[in-house]
Amino acid sequence: FCGMRADGTEVPVDIMINTIILDGIRVAMALVRDVSYQRELEERLIRESLTDGMTGFFNRKHFINQLKAQHSGFTRSGVPSSVILFDFDHFKSINDQHGHAAGDIVLIDTAKMIKEKLRPLDIACRIGGEEFAVILPDTPIQNAKHLAERIRREIEAIEFRLEDTVFHATVTMSVASFFPSDKSYDSLVRRADKALYAGKAAGRNCVASQDSLAQPSE
Ligand code: GH3
Ligand code: MG
Ligand code: MG
Repeated sequence: FCGMRADGTEVPVDIMINTIILDGIRVAMALVRDVSYQRELEERLIRESLTDGMTGFFNRKHFINQLKAQHSGFTRSGVPSSVILFDFDHFKSINDQHGHAAGDIVLIDTAKMIKEKLRPLDIACRIGGEEFAVILPDTPIQNAKHLAERIRREIEAIEFRLEDTVFHATVTMSVASFFPSDKSYDSLVRRADKALYAGKAAGRNCVASQDSLAQPSE
């Protein structure tokens, strides 16, 4: 239940109601317990189980849950959502050349930059070691391509720093959105994965889409 404190603020409470015999009379007794601490703990645990600690982005589990929800929404409304996937190029060489800490800086700084580019309703996720996904609700694929291209360029331009070393990184991105024929969310994931591989094969540092490879515009 939702209780109210004397100062008017709300408080989650557990209420236990029982009857007891008091001086031979049956009376009702209610025990009201403030459970705000338990509620906060519960919410924090749920949040942490869906979040990546390094970047603050959501994790793969949340990505899948949200994509399922987007697919259901799409089948009801017909309004398409889009997804951007991206994977860092030759990330192993960044680790090998500059150390694992440098690789971590790339992931953390990129996540910070991306957060600033997104709307509050967009869902940014780290779905693997150096693989990310952004769900863009109610967004046509054309808009998603433009955003992906802006993010790709920004990443390319970042001067990552670890102590005295300055280094760069690039990503290959893919963009996909739901088709009316999609029976499940994973059809979209398969198309996005395929486009990502195509982008890697085409030379990396580009935005590939489910329909065709989009060359970075000037
Ligand atoms: P490609 O362009 O084909 O994607 O090449 P790649 O080197 O990025 O390929 P691959 O996916 O095989 O390598 C990813 C590397 O990312 C391997 C792994 O050690 C590194 N990595 C994964 N997670 C982290 C992390 O949290 N921090 C750091 N520093 N490195 C990570
Ligand atoms: Mg990878
Ligand atoms: Mg990679």
